[in-house]
Amino acid sequence: MVLGCVIHGQGDLRVEELPEPEPGPGRAVVAVRYGGICGSDLHYHRHGGVGDFRLREPMLLGHEVVGTVVAYGDGATGPALGTPVAVHPATPCGVCPECADGRANVCRDTRYLGSAARFPHVQGGFASRIAVPAVQLRALPEGLEPRRAALAEPLSVALHAVRRAGDLAGRDVLVTGAGPIGCLTVAAARAAGAASITVTDLLPRALEFAAAAGATACVRADDPDDPNWPSDEVDVAIEASGVAAGLDTCLRRVRRGGAVVQLGMLPPGQSPFAGNLLVAREIDLRGAFRFHAEFDDALRLLAAEPSFDALISAVRPVREAAEAFGQAADRSQSCKVLLDFA
Ligand SMILES: [Zn+2]
Ligand SMILES: [Zn+2]
Repeated sequence: MVLGCVIHGQGDLRVEELPEPEPGPGRAVVAVRYGGICGSDLHYHRHGGVGDFRLREPMLLGHEVVGTVVAYGDGATGPALGTPVAVHPATPCGVCPECADGRANVCRDTRYLGSAARFPHVQGGFASRIAVPAVQLRALPEGLEPRRAALAEPLSVALHAVRRAGDLAGRDVLVTGAGPIGCLTVAAARAAGAASITVTDLLPRALEFAAAAGATACVRADDPDDPNWPSDEVDVAIEASGVAAGLDTCLRRVRRGGAVVQLGMLPPGQSPFAGNLLVAREIDLRGAFRFHAEFDDALRLLAAEPSFDALISAVRPVREAAEAFGQAADRSQSCKVLLDFA
């Protein structure tokens, strides 16, 4: 029996029986073991959409999945049957100007697991068996357990944001927002050799996760007198909270000529921010969206760093998906919550 987590509309998440997936030409069937619940999954559940993408039909959620490859369709090749794999969630078109320019993460015709960015929506990976293009499979590196490997997708997002920020070696970095993406951005900045990494959040528990990820200073975002604010301006600020106030903090705390990377997805529509700071301080404001080649880097980094396990705060069976979603949304307690499809 194939069980999946399907979002039917705002607040309407159902665990339901799905048809057995057929591999089909060029495709592989993966027996999914773990699926990480992402902020975007939570948004589809809570708001019926994420960013400017709205749900228009039922959609299998999930794009952070690991499992075992169990079948290939005609013409499909990849890791041997039975191999533990992570699924790269993106299938860029390969021919648009962005793909040709080496920026497949912003491909104008990409297919991304569990995303309502296009219609019909691309069905996701939160099911005990899924069929995906075989080219999306990546064998797990030696020594990487599937549980930790479930962090590969959000860590790739963080690695891409760090790449967009430029060379961080010896730099002072600020990260606003200590959700799973913020914490993984801290870890990615640390791996990139940042001299200091200050992270802000409203919630003490979130800041504890950020400290476990390698933050050198943790600050209450709503307390301007917190003694842990950096005394000097930072070289680079990465906005990972997805609220305009976070972007404002980044613009005010980065040095003249520094870089601000907007990684968090802001609310739909327009966002107010202190635009004149961009001008008067010649700040480079850049967006960071998804990732592409970073997925392989993420798997290698996860294999080398057992400390990432501290960011997985709960693992729950798929039948408890509603509770798991509630838990993942409660940032006063949780960092990354995984669904177990075994
Ligand atoms: Zn994600
Ligand atoms: Zn493309």
